[in-house]
Amino acid sequence: MAHSCTVCGRPPVDRYIVSMHGEVTCARHHAREGCVLCGRPRDGGESGWSSFTATTARCPTCSHQAVDSQEEARRHIPAVRREMAALGIQLDQRVRVTLVEPDVINLGSPGLCLGRTLQRIEESVTDVLGIEIARGLTATHFGATVAHEIGHAWLAQRGARGLAKPLEEGLCELFSGAWLKRRGTEFARTMRRVALENPDPVYGAGYRMVRDAVVSHGIAVVLDSVCTRSRLP
Ligand SMILES: [Zn+2]
Ligand SMILES: [Zn+2]
Ligand SMILES: [Zn+2]
Repeated sequence: MAHSCTVCGRPPVDRYIVSMHGEVTCARHHAREGCVLCGRPRDGGESGWSSFTATTARCPTCSHQAVDSQEEARRHIPAVRREMAALGIQLDQRVRVTLVEPDVINLGSPGLCLGRTLQRIEESVTDVLGIEIARGLTATHFGATVAHEIGHAWLAQRGARGLAKPLEEGLCELFSGAWLKRRGTEFARTMRRVALENPDPVYGAGYRMVRDAVVSHGIAVVLDSVCTRSRLP
């Protein structure tokens, strides 16, 4: 390993931890909870860290790349919409994407929540009211989260109702993964791999289940089956 440690600056000896950015940190510095976005360990006094939610923090690398304002978000959103459209996921009605404080969307959620799609269900019609994305994500996390939430909005607009949670979240993870693949950076590749290896029974297992169905049947058949019969082919 040619890199030097983010804390002591020396090549790590023995055990070390590699963040999703590929930065290395000696395992012995691991004093506090690490970066919530890339997993980099945090040493007590290290500067450049910033808070994400009230109980989580971002490392200097992730903080530096943060999409912190609505203006910055607006610069990224058209490209995400374009790339999703190229994948065949285009919203019939445009849905507004707004940044919200990470604490607001994480109230009462067990894992870390980076985005959500607000819907109103009335009789048999689902209205998509908007997409909320946590403020302060890296541009890659931001794009992947917007892609995931556009997936929920698209399913709602197509009338896909009552999907099992692993199926709906797995599909949205697939959309997010497809966006990460198109982005083509090392960090995006790592994020996609982490999502595919996610042990979570809804998000990770759902993603692998949908991916396997796409490998067997193709994306068009899978999406048609989900939208018309609420299940995989
Ligand atoms: Zn070190
Ligand atoms: Zn980080
Ligand atoms: Zn979701």
